Amino acid sequence: MIRVSDINVYIKCPRMCYFLQRGHEFKRDASPGYLERLILKELALTYNSAFSAKNKLSHLNDELDRISGEIPVIYRTELPAIDDDSLASAVSNVRSCLENICSNLPSNGDFYSNNSFHVEPLLKSEKFGLTGSPDKLIGINEGHVPAIIKTGSMPETGVWQSDRLQLTAYVILVEENFKLPVDRGFVEYARWGKVREIAIKRHERRKILQIKDRIRKIQEGVMPEKPENAPCDHCSFEKMCDVRSTLTSRFF
Ligand code: SF4
Repeated sequence: MIRVSDINVYIKCPRMCYFLQRGHEFKRDASPGYLERLILKELALTYNSAFSAKNKLSHLNDELDRISGEIPVIYRTELPAIDDDSLASAVSNVRSCLENICSNLPSNGDFYSNNSFHVEPLLKSEKFGLTGSPDKLIGINEGHVPAIIKTGSMPETGVWQSDRLQLTAYVILVEENFKLPVDRGFVEYARWGKVREIAIKRHERRKILQIKDRIRKIQEGVMPEKPENAPCDHCSFEKMCDVRSTLTSRFF
């Protein structure tokens, strides 16, 4: 099975996808920046309840306190060791965003007033050999619409191309699982408490199916070319990538 997370990695760099498929792992350290993103993701799961709370800021402050205690348990596998100073620094940075988040939640009232959603449901398609868990699967009318939570930067308008493609992959999975067409998806930018809705486009569906086929080739052992604009700075695989760069397939 190919996971939607494999597609995300492929979009960043096909070679990263190759190294992960060969059993290598990203180096993860519990830096304040990484912890901040994990905390923001957990916090975004509480925006619905914050939206309906009388005092949104107090509600989010309480949730942040709860999450800061639970993060080491929820992300035990990803983060075997978290030092107290890094955690405190990450929590403090997220706390500084809360007022802004509270002021933005009402502008996404339709989204946050809907409490009919599942968190990280596991979806599978035998037909496409694809699996993945959108951050939320939202019940709207008789159907289901996927939403993803992003903890990085937010574009001025719309969503990043990588976010569009990730959502498109989830839409294909939702359609396969529920046998109903899905024409849209949502991206939540957690640091701002803002939601952007996107229409799913045919050419992006096509692109996901192409990427899926290319990942299958990678699984069979084909190493893709090193892309010109690859994000090699701080890449966990930089050393082994340089060594193997002369022996790549022309497939990509
Ligand atoms: S070093 Fe660069 S090309 Fe190689 S896997 Fe990392 S990002 Fe991709």
